[in-house]
Amino acid sequence: MGFEKQTEEIREICGRLFSEGKADAIFAHTSGGLDGTLIPFIAKGEGDIGKIVWGDRIRQNLAPYLHGRTDRVGIVAMPCDARAIVQYINESQLARENVYIIGVDCPGMVDEDGYDRPGCAECTVRVAPVCDERVQGDPAGQEGASTGATPPRNGEGAPPAEKFARFRAEIDKCILCYSCRQACYGCYCKTCFIERDMPDWQPVELDAGTKMTFHLGRAMHLAGRCVECGACEAACASGVNVRYLIQEVTDFVDEMYGFRTGMDIGTAQAMVAYGPDDREPGFLGEAQYE
Ligand code: SF4
Ligand code: SF4
Ligand code: SF4
Repeated sequence: MGFEKQTEEIREICGRLFSEGKADAIFAHTSGGLDGTLIPFIAKGEGDIGKIVWGDRIRQNLAPYLHGRTDRVGIVAMPCDARAIVQYINESQLARENVYIIGVDCPGMVDEDGYDRPGCAECTVRVAPVCDERVQGDPAGQEGASTGATPPRNGEGAPPAEKFARFRAEIDKCILCYSCRQACYGCYCKTCFIERDMPDWQPVELDAGTKMTFHLGRAMHLAGRCVECGACEAACASGVNVRYLIQEVTDFVDEMYGFRTGMDIGTAQAMVAYGPDDREPGFLGEAQYE
């Protein structure tokens, strides 16, 4: 099914939601962004439905717009959006009955040059794991489908100095603008730890240590919570690639506890549940600490 057919089906579902009074607003995308990108759009009634567009030029995830809402809303959700919404529900940030999820099969998003959006190349969840209605696609054969190429990780087995050099090179590009944090569904603290002044985590001078504290702290706060959407990296205007840190922690949680974020509602969360059979690795996972 091509994008036009998917768009048609999405509009039909949205029309039904409004006419049956099941949603006060529907979060979706529309055309009009630079270089053909689709931009976030809130449909507020049947008259807006014709503006809803689906395609492979989506840069922004919509889930953060739903955080903390208490009215009844619908969302045209990419699978990673759907996982983030599931996680909001699991973290008591959103009531299940207040959100209608239109899960759209995803071919992988591409940027204005046709390259995979960060996160999409290696994404393995192309169908929303939880939704109220599904709009099917043909992820493998669809126009714009991503290549599946795996980006370089932090060099498994590489000497620590080499790993640190890679981290340092990325950190040097960072200007601490916090766009990555703002784009992430999972960063919703009213005051981020890095901006709290008791203790003062952020000195006046933005040195490498401050930047490392921010990125390593954020990676730990996303442990067992990252939905692997790549929105953080896509939002970075400085081209900083430190999402691999969060991905390492995500893979670690999966390997140790068999947990992937946002796959179903009501499952025990890896970082807040303890079972007597849980493995207890050291920080670096060495067997001798078990
Ligand atoms: S991360 Fe996966 S679900 Fe999200 S836009 Fe990319 S391919 Fe689609
Ligand atoms: S990694 Fe990029 S988006 Fe995040 S704080 Fe640094 S410069 Fe800003
Ligand atoms: S850390 Fe990045 S990849 Fe993970 S959920 Fe947040 S924005 Fe998405």
